[in-house]
Amino acid sequence: MTEQVSTYCEVCGIDVKPDTELKRFGKLFCSKDHMEQYVRARQEQRALASTEGSGLVAAKV
Ligand SMILES: [Zn+2]
Repeated sequence: MTEQVSTYCEVCGIDVKPDTELKRFGKLFCSKDHMEQYVRARQEQRALASTEGSGLVAAKV
């Protein structure tokens, strides 16, 4: 299985050049703003997961 690289902004969905430097977690972003927004959302999710217990979170989905 090959990992597909998306070439659109993970936040707003517009096309982004695949060689952009605005990359986090293998995702591309159209702007630094959106990159930071995504990183923050990710950190909040992780914080939530650790307070609830990772086992529960996995079972919920
Ligand atoms: Zn964007």
